[in-house]
Amino acid sequence: MFNLNEIVRDNIRTLTPYSSARDEFMDNGAVFLDANENPFGTYNRYPDPNQLELKQLISETKAVPTNNVFLGNGSDEIIDLLFKAFCNPRKDKAVQCGPTYGMYAVSAAINDVELINWPLNNSFQLDIEGTSSILQNPRIKLIFICSPNNPTGNLIHPASIDFILRNFRGLVVIDEAYVDFSLQESWSKRIEEFPNLVVLQTLSKAWGLAGIRIGMAFSDVAVVQYLNKVKPPYNISTLNQKAAVQSLKNPRKFEQNVQVILSEKERVHQELTKLKLVETIYPSAANFLLVQVSDACTIYDRLIDQKLVVRNRHQLLLNCLRITIGSPEENELLLKELKNIDDEKDAIY
Ligand SMILES: *Cc1c(COP(=O)(O)O)cnc(C)c1O
Repeated sequence: MFNLNEIVRDNIRTLTPYSSARDEFMDNGAVFLDANENPFGTYNRYPDPNQLELKQLISETKAVPTNNVFLGNGSDEIIDLLFKAFCNPRKDKAVQCGPTYGMYAVSAAINDVELINWPLNNSFQLDIEGTSSILQNPRIKLIFICSPNNPTGNLIHPASIDFILRNFRGLVVIDEAYVDFSLQESWSKRIEEFPNLVVLQTLSKAWGLAGIRIGMAFSDVAVVQYLNKVKPPYNISTLNQKAAVQSLKNPRKFEQNVQVILSEKERVHQELTKLKLVETIYPSAANFLLVQVSDACTIYDRLIDQKLVVRNRHQLLLNCLRITIGSPEENELLLKELKNIDDEKDAIY
């Protein structure tokens, strides 16, 4: 039923991608007079457009063959490239399951593609019932599913994702930006089974490398090849590739940091339950907590007065703040101020 050639845009299927002389001949000992580079300096050469060393390491770390790995300048770039490769502006559509990550809507709008919101239910899960109008619609090319979801924090039930993968004729993009904080097995283990599956991950969250903009897509080779066709040739700088390689070679730091963040999450959760201004703390498989409070906007402003910045999600979810788990010191500052606000409320009422 799934046929990638029916999904990809015609102009991308027939595109001859940019090719440099370096694609045709690569040998470290060669004299390179092909790319109009400057012969002097340290970063005078263009970066490796195929990011081979980094891809090799990511392939080992994630246990996904290199041919199934695509790298972007952050996963935000990959989201944009998915629209570019698979959605004809003003003609094709995409679906998100909201409330969710804001970049799907921004990227859809930039690419002039209509984004349909398939709302999550009260438990922030997908309602599979009565979805044939979405799954059978040939104009819908992409469905974005964020799991663990931002900003709700929960994992989407694997059974509903499985159902969508089996019944949708387009690409199912599972954004796993927070998967390293959860116990959930990555969907990247299933790419052989599902040619319409694209798994997004990033070095921005658990790996602590948001500044170097490295996003990953794991998918069938055919999808990876189309993404390679549409990406800017040198989308990941030499410096960023180097920094990523260095971190991936030393995963100990990453593992330790994740452990600290997870134990801090438990502690912050515990402390928040003691506050009267806290109404609900939603279950989180990520490095943040979605917290419903008595009055999100007032509390948000009070925190800002103390230079404590959390994310006010009141517009999306009534009276909800999204609180990132920081260092123990940062968390302490936040909890202290929340306690102040709580005590004051006591005095007023
Ligand atoms: C933070 C986040 C990303 C990360 O994007 P990068 O461009 O890789 O930094 C992707 N998806 C979701 C849902 C996120 O919350």
